[in-house]
Amino acid sequence: MEQSSRIKPPMGPDNGWWWQEVANDVLPIQRCKNCQVLRHPPRPMCDQCRSMEWDFVRAGGGGAVFSYTVLEHPQFPGYSYPIIIVLVDLEEGTRITAELVDCDPGEVEFGMAVTVRIQEDSDGFKLPVFYPVIAQEGE
Ligand SMILES: [Zn+2]
Repeated sequence: MEQSSRIKPPMGPDNGWWWQEVANDVLPIQRCKNCQVLRHPPRPMCDQCRSMEWDFVRAGGGGAVFSYTVLEHPQFPGYSYPIIIVLVDLEEGTRITAELVDCDPGEVEFGMAVTVRIQEDSDGFKLPVFYPVIAQEGE
């Protein structure tokens, strides 16, 4: 039996570019060209200075869990439950929502160090997910 795939996010003129970068294994963060403030999710106008000019930076991928929730229901085909959804404070200074993988739901904590990887689903769709940074011995 063919496995169902993940529900795809809507992609339009304001955020399609972001998903294209992710497909190239980059975690992009939109940046205002006028005041340099970072913003996510992508949108046309800077909420600080109202500039419509923007570019983006490549996030290093490191961050810390600001908040999280664990999804148990409703369960859609193509996902394995429970799903941990985290709001991550990126080191660059903006936040992103994503799935936390390689972590037991009982182990997730506020402030936990995480880092990103671009995950490729079985149907070829790529999306950023985060996983816990395990402190190396001697650190
Ligand atoms: Zn701005």
